[in-house]
This record gives sequence, C-alpha cells and structure tokens, in this order.
Amino acid sequence: MKTIRDQYTHIPFRISGLLDLAYNLWWSWHPEVRILFKQLNQEAWKASIHNPVRMLRDIPAEFLEAAENNAEYLRRYDIIMNRFRRYLKSHCGWFGDQYPGKESLTIAYFSAEYGLHHSLPFYAGGLGFLAGDHLKECSDLGVPLVAVGFMYSEGYLHQHIQADGWQTAAKEHLEREATPLKRVLNWDGDHLVVQVPYVEPAIFVAVWKVDVGNVPLYLLDTDIPLNDKETRRISSSLYMSDREERLRQEIVLGIGGRKVLRTLGIEYSAVHLNEGHPAFALLERIRERTKNGIPFEKAVQQVRGTSVFTTHTPVAAGHDVFSTELMDKYFGAYYGELGIDRNQFLALGAHPDFPDNGFNMTVLALRLSGYHNGVSKKHGAVTRQMWRGLWQDRNEDQIPIDAITNGVHLPTWMNPRIQDLLDSHFYYVAPNWQEEHDDETLWNLVDEIPDKDLWDLHLQLKNKLINRIRERKRVKWIKERDDVPNFITEGLFLNPSVLTIGFARRFATYKRADLIFHDLDRLKKIISNRWRPVQIIFAGKAHQSDYEGKRILQKIYQFARQPEFEGRIAIVEDYSEQTAQYLVHGVDVWLNNPLPPMEACGTSGMKAGINGVLNLSIPDGWWLEGFNGRNGWTFGAESGEGDRDVADAAALYEILEREVIPLYYSSSLDAIPHGWVKMMKESIKSIAPRFCARRMVKDYVNNYYPKLVSSADAERM
Ligand SMILES: *Cc1c(COP(=O)(O)O)cnc(C)c1O
Repeated sequence: MKTIRDQYTHIPFRISGLLDLAYNLWWSWHPEVRILFKQLNQEAWKASIHNPVRMLRDIPAEFLEAAENNAEYLRRYDIIMNRFRRYLKSHCGWFGDQYPGKESLTIAYFSAEYGLHHSLPFYAGGLGFLAGDHLKECSDLGVPLVAVGFMYSEGYLHQHIQADGWQTAAKEHLEREATPLKRVLNWDGDHLVVQVPYVEPAIFVAVWKVDVGNVPLYLLDTDIPLNDKETRRISSSLYMSDREERLRQEIVLGIGGRKVLRTLGIEYSAVHLNEGHPAFALLERIRERTKNGIPFEKAVQQVRGTSVFTTHTPVAAGHDVFSTELMDKYFGAYYGELGIDRNQFLALGAHPDFPDNGFNMTVLALRLSGYHNGVSKKHGAVTRQMWRGLWQDRNEDQIPIDAITNGVHLPTWMNPRIQDLLDSHFYYVAPNWQEEHDDETLWNLVDEIPDKDLWDLHLQLKNKLINRIRERKRVKWIKERDDVPNFITEGLFLNPSVLTIGFARRFATYKRADLIFHDLDRLKKIISNRWRPVQIIFAGKAHQSDYEGKRILQKIYQFARQPEFEGRIAIVEDYSEQTAQYLVHGVDVWLNNPLPPMEACGTSGMKAGINGVLNLSIPDGWWLEGFNGRNGWTFGAESGEGDRDVADAAALYEILEREVIPLYYSSSLDAIPHGWVKMMKESIKSIAPRFCARRMVKDYVNNYYPKLVSSADAERM
C-alpha cells in the first residue's frame, strides 16, 4: 500500500516536515504553524478551507519551491519543527510531575463524537467538542490517554436552508485522503481490519488514526467492501434514528472499539466513557475476565474500580433505550459468555423505576462504572436526583455522582490575536502564562491592558466575522447562481458598528432559539431603534428527524425577512467548528436561553467569554457558576413550572433595554465604551482560568486517577 509520503513527492525534502505537521492536529492550536502554511500561499490556504492536508495536496509545486529557497521561511520552519519534535518527545509534563512513574497507566477514552477541527466532521454539538478539547488538553498536560470513536463518512449533516426557510440536508461524502486521517496498517502493510466479536452476521471495521498532539485517536469505519450494504452504513453518520441501526452503532463502538485496542496491543488500565453510547465496552471488559475464569461478580467489581462515566443528559428522553427483542437478537449469544442468564443480563440495563421499558445505556454505564460525574454543579445535582432509584438505600446527597464542570481548550478557542495582546502585557510578570493559564491570580493582569487596545482588537474581530459571512455568501452564490439571492437573512446587511448578538447552537427545542421573538413588536422596536440599533446572528442545525427544531428555524427565517426588522437578523448556514470560531471571537453578546435545567453545562458561552464576548444567559448549566455580577448578565429564573416563555422573554427585553444596549452605546469622547470594555476584561479574567479544559482535565485526573491506579494495582496483584 502506498504511504502518505508517496502521495506527496512534490514536497521538497528540505521542508518535508510540513507533511508531519499537517498530519498532527497539534498545528491547529499553534497559530505560528498556521502561519507557516498560510505563508506558502494565502489563496491556497483559503481554498483548502484551512486544511493543510488538502492544501499540500493541491498547491502548485512552485510555491513549495519558493519556500524552499526563502531563508526567512526556512528559519521559521526549522524552529517550529524542533518545537514540534520536542513536544512529541516530552510525554510527561504536568502529569509526569504529579504522578511520577505512573505514566504506564493508560486511560482509554470512548466517545461517539469528537469535535477537533472542521475538516473532521465527526461531531454534532457540545458533547463532541468536550471530547475533542479533552484530548487536546490531555496531550498538553502529558496525560496518558488513547481515544476511540467513529470515522463517519458522511459526517453529521450539511445544512442547507431553502428559500422557504426549511432545512434540508445535503449529503457530502468525506474525502478521507484530504483530511489528517491516517490508515492504521496490519503486519502485511494493508489497512487493518478487525471483526467485531459475537455479532452475527459479521461486522468488520477498518481502523484509522488521528494524531492529536501526543494522544492517538482511533476511528472505526464500517464502510468497506467486506461488509454488506446495510453494515457499511453503520459508521456513515452520527446518531442514526432507527433503533436497530443505533444499537448496531453502539455495539461497534463499545465492543468493536475494545477489540481494536486489543488488536493494536494497546494496554490500558482504566476506561473513561463520554456519555452512555459506548457503554458496551464495559461488558467487553467483564467478558475478558469471566473468560479467564473470574466469577461475574468479581469481574464487575474490577471493572467498576477502573471505570469513569461522564453523563451529559438531564432529560429522560435523551438516553438510549433498546427493546428487549433487539437485545435478544444481538446479545443472545453473548450473555452466556459473561456467566449470567438472560434475566440477569437484561437487569443490567433496567431502569430502577421503569424496569420493563427496555435496556437503558445510561443505567448500564452507571451500574458498571465506579465513578460517575455530571458536567456542571447544577447538572450533578439534577443527575443525582434523576438516578436516585439506583441507590435506594442512600440519601440523595450520598448518591455517588459528582460534578466536574466542563472547560474549553484555551489555545483552541481564544483568538490568537487576543493571546498576543495578553502576551504583551503578561510577559514581564508571567512569561510562561500560557503554561499556567488555570492560575486565577495571573489573569488580574488583564486590567493593565489599555481599553483602547482591547476595544480596537474586538472591532477588528467583529469586522472579520462580518466579512467572512459575506465572503461565504459570495462563494456560495458563485456555486449555485440562484436567481434571487437572499441578501436579507444571509448577512449581507450586517453592520460592524451595530451592537451584535450571537445565538449559535443546535436547534434542539429546549434551547428555545425563538424565545427572543416572543413579542414581535417589542423586538422590532429594539432592533430598529434608530439611535441604538441591534442586530442578531443565528446559526445552528436541527437533527434530521427533529421536525420541531426545523420548524423553529423556519419561523426565525421567516421573521427575519419581515421588513420591520430592517435586514438586521442574519442566519448563517451549516454551523461548524469554523463558524463557531468566528462567532465566539467577533460578536458583542452571546445569548443563551435554554429551558432550565436542560442545559447540562453549555460550553459555547465559555468560548465567547474568554474572548471578551459578554454572556447574556438564563441561570442554567455552567453560567450558575460562571456569573459573578460583573462579567455579563443573567435574566429569568433558575426554576419554574409551566410555560415560562412569556416571563423569560419579558426579562430578556427588559435587560436588553435597560442595561445591555445603553452600556454598549455609552461611549465617551474617545469613542470607546469604557463601561463595556471593563466588563469584557472581567469576562476574560473570571472565565479563562476557571472554565478552561486545563482546570477540567486536572480535576478528572486528581479526583479519579489515584483511585483508578490503586484499583488497577490491586487487580494485578
Ligand atoms: C462549542 C460548540 C458547541 C457546543 O455549544 P453549546 O453552548 O453547548 O451549545 C456546539 N457546536 C459547535 C460548533 C461548537 O463549537
């Protein structure tokens, strides 16, 4: 089989390391590497949609030759290559200092989605970005982790909004060779293929690998000729709606994923499950033990002692449940291997309050893992309440479900130019601040930045966002040449001097994207105010089978076209990691109005907050911990019965009219809104150290790691 290098013979040897950089996502959180690619040719960089693998493949050789003969380019290239090689070698870092000699205890991380970069569309929303940021941070901290997921050949969905506002999904087949996916090869040099054990008819998966710094992510792909047509579809897209298809996905992820790690010879001692989808991996761990003669109960105990389960869903309907018939069909030959009978097996997934409702993956994960956590303090409490039936002998505060609040990978989500600005002020006191960015005290240095510098930079990022939305529209128009381009909702009328609210998230009903339209007249007055206008940018996809979510999107689309809104409401199609980057850097206000307590955590508000974009949010999820009275706004109530839309919408208008809009437009003679900038600084300094993935990963490691190590050690003895 041809190696990757064989396909890139046009890259001169002197700079052939560019290929190594392109095939490790390390580049994506190091702006200086991005510049190295961009410098080859700016247009090629844009045309590749910021994807260096595609770019290196498509770029004319003359630009590579020019770089090879450019002393300045080579100087930078050499420095960056050395840093990259050093990074890959220094496996220890923070983790090595904290847990010397324990690097051998590897953790296997399982997740159905990963949000790492838009060139790898293997995510639907927050759960995926949490997983992606977790891997990047583990790499930075030297935490020994291997990750397992799916290579979705059609990704999530590519959203297209029709002229009547209805969302349709365009199918796009992922061109694997144009992404940083590497084939994992077997001893013969062919693509490694593994059979998922105990499933009839047989399912085979091919294995791919993505390097996330030092963390390897193995991705399973059923779209290979060895499988029949139905089976090939298993890894085609995220979260299939059909129950049987979904079950087959989860069998492949959990059981197949475990088999892949074993085939690769990867020894790990502990497992971390991101949500319940991969919970069958725990069954496999038990089966390996019962097969070796360990009794079922003891095997369960061992597996519990070395398994962590993070749950994300505060609503019952969000958890996967499979019918007894389906479980019989796929596990009929399996549970005997565990040394238990059918009833004992089905009981593992039986909801304590509704035992006849089927096999619940969250229940399975809670039963078979010893450590559990929700993703914010509030969500931890909601989760304890939700699952107290599983621990009937305990009081609610003794239910063993903790909370570790999510965080975002700072180098990924903080705009590089904001990082530069901070650097120029932090440098003299804390030259290593990037390494210590979870230290709250050093962020007080933000107050030393002159208001003008931060404000000017913010305006530049806002301009960049608006230019980008327009440019996207232009490119789309070239492609589609529709006769009546929809200028109104596609952002061509956006104005960088107008107060800009961003609302971007999945169009799940509980997120209430249309809340702000509750009183149309009042909103029209706010938006079209001649002296203090407001504009709103929406983005987000509804799940393919979520009719209600699509209806909300359509409703917003149709409102946006009403002339009274004066073209100030824009809807950006096909929300992706890249769009998210521009939005969380460039809008003024980040609006979030879910129905409490449905927002388990929410992370886009953290991404906005660390860039000085002010949160305007319902008190739910992380914002209950994040809001300090000075770094944004809270409106509406934390809890409430019945239809609360009227009250929440009124509270939103009220706070916009009374506080947000006046503060934004109260600039002084120097044309800088100092009150606003003060809040921006407060937002950056209060949110960055506490809601970064560094703090989060350290919490996971410090809370669970010593316990996992001692369990694993006990098992070995
Ligand atoms: C961060 C992110 C999310 C998750 O944001 P929430 O606030 O949890 O809704 C979803 N999609 C994209 C593209 C993101 O970057």
